[in-house]
Amino acid sequence: MRIYYDLHIHTCLSPCASDDMTPNNIVNMALLKGLDVIAVTDHNSALNVEAVHKVARKKGLLVVPGIEVETKEEVHVLCYFYSVEECVKFSEIINKNMPKIKNTKTIFGSQLVMDENDNIVEEVENLLLVSTNFTLKEIFLYMEGRGAAVPAHVDRGSYSIIANLGFIPNIENLKTIEISKGVDRRTFLKEHPECQKYRIISSSDAHSLGYISEREQFLPCELSLKSVIEWLCGY
Ligand SMILES: [Zn+2]
Ligand SMILES: [Zn+2]
Repeated sequence: MRIYYDLHIHTCLSPCASDDMTPNNIVNMALLKGLDVIAVTDHNSALNVEAVHKVARKKGLLVVPGIEVETKEEVHVLCYFYSVEECVKFSEIINKNMPKIKNTKTIFGSQLVMDENDNIVEEVENLLLVSTNFTLKEIFLYMEGRGAAVPAHVDRGSYSIIANLGFIPNIENLKTIEISKGVDRRTFLKEHPECQKYRIISSSDAHSLGYISEREQFLPCELSLKSVIEWLCGY
């Protein structure tokens, strides 16, 4: 089966994302684009995962609960969970393990938590765009059995595993990597032949509605949370 995806979307909780990245707008846009599955992956927090999940369930769209964690090495890693509960639990853990710096809204933007009706229920005060105290290896260790961890936008010059560490370390459950939307796989692999052993996904990293992926990239698996995560885990 081919399931069309975009597994890297920011909601209005991410300071850098537009305020109209609300649960309903994201789900409606994903459906308009003809996607079968999406993931919301805010920076270091899962506070909007539940609302998006509720909206999507009503409308028949599969949502993978996710977070984009920034490791101690300033590497962005997409963490995908088998359940909303596990994702929220992880979000609480990382929140206790990151510096408490007040968000300056005028510089970074607001960090809005919403319910399933797009009502603002909270504004997160501490900046989410920071590196957590967890190393890359610790994040992958935590994800064992809980879901899949995927290094984000590995082609980029910053916040990427290749740019920051210089190579991809040998980690048992690191089976899939993400390249940015618009980056050609073949060109990327020519430049990084060492990446041929990984599965490669390409998501939008959308911070605005229009940037959410078209029905272009697919995973060869069944349309279920379990199946998507298992594929990302290399099964
Ligand atoms: Zn990122
Ligand atoms: Zn991102």
